[in-house]
Amino acid sequence: MDLLNTLVDKGLRRETPTRGEALAVLATSDDDLLDVVAAAGKVRRHWFGRRVKLNYLVNLKSGLCPEDCSYCSQRLGSKAGILKYTWLKPDEASKAAAAGLAGGAKRVCLVASGRGPTDRDVDRVSDTIKAIKEQNEGVEVCACLGLLSDGQAERLREAGADAYNHNLNTSESTYGDITTTHTYADRVDTVQKAHAAGLSACSGLIAGMGESDEDLVDVVFSLRELDPDSVPVNFLIPFEGTPLAKEWNLTPQRCLRILAMVRFVCPDVEVRIAGGREVHLRTMQPLALHLANSIFLGDYLTSEGQAGRADLEMIADAGFEVEGADQVTLPEHRTGGGGCGSHGDRGCGSHGDGGCGSHGDGGVCGTAPADAGRAGAGSRGGADGETVRRADEPRTDLVAVRRRGAGTDLAPNA
Ligand code: SF4
Repeated sequence: MDLLNTLVDKGLRRETPTRGEALAVLATSDDDLLDVVAAAGKVRRHWFGRRVKLNYLVNLKSGLCPEDCSYCSQRLGSKAGILKYTWLKPDEASKAAAAGLAGGAKRVCLVASGRGPTDRDVDRVSDTIKAIKEQNEGVEVCACLGLLSDGQAERLREAGADAYNHNLNTSESTYGDITTTHTYADRVDTVQKAHAAGLSACSGLIAGMGESDEDLVDVVFSLRELDPDSVPVNFLIPFEGTPLAKEWNLTPQRCLRILAMVRFVCPDVEVRIAGGREVHLRTMQPLALHLANSIFLGDYLTSEGQAGRADLEMIADAGFEVEGADQVTLPEHRTGGGGCGSHGDRGCGSHGDGGCGSHGDGGVCGTAPADAGRAGAGSRGGADGETVRRADEPRTDLVAVRRRGAGTDLAPNA
């Protein structure tokens, strides 16, 4: 297909595709899906080989947020039965992080619900960053604390943070439909503050909130312009107790097309499959590794992921390898040869993460569904007489509120 040849050529040269080309990727048919994955896979392997970076989320403060992000289980008025707790102490957070690092993660993402941190909050998180770095040499730490005020990014950088996550989430034109308590411009401003302070910027999106193809292309082109080092791609987990509870409109095929489009538009950037991976890609997760070079290990902020061991087995079975602490994630032109943590020739600092970021990420979770295990309309009979679901049916049965790890007495899933 001429389109795919063109996109591969551009991806290898770091040239921006046209909007029309990005839209055409989203419009490809199921018959062409493997060709799309193969083409984007060439770009992925050119910049990142077969490495998969593992990231581990620690939710420092869960729930009780005054903001009204429609997708979020921690929002004002959320009826979701998630864990609610205030700041973990540095040693508690460090213990939680250690589980993820032992499982193979090289980055810890420290997330806190809320509009943004107070200066006292920045002090707390600084202490936590120091505790984690003291106990785990070489670990990358990303903070995700919401909107930053002047000077806060610099203080986090001084405390040892490598990266800062804040997602754009959706297009500027639809942002007001998703959130009313802050603006798209607020979000852009925080990503720019992180850049300016020498932190590696991580900023991504959430797909599946009822947006159009044009919206998806808009937000990904805006991200390309902001030039974060990492782009987490979340797939909405529409869970009970939030305004988007009924937005089940993703299929595994659609998720793969979205990831391919992101890879073509941001070819040399760490593309991370974030929240919703298990719920929406389901058995197609291994194919997505040909597009993204990064995932979260274990659980998300407020929802459960698949077992960490299953993630590791999936990576090995698909012919990929977990990126080691001694391997540099980003291509050399992004790091100045120094890898994550170095701020090379870009003048903006490089390191990336995501996942949280106000806190679109894996944070979105769901409540255990009342109809778990029940096939929806249109299901057909399986060989053993049980029903088989269609790819576009809601999978509320795959959504579970996190009850283990940070903020609980139970061991984390890593
Ligand atoms: S995404 Fe962040 S700011 Fe928005 S409601 Fe959730 S915790 Fe609050």
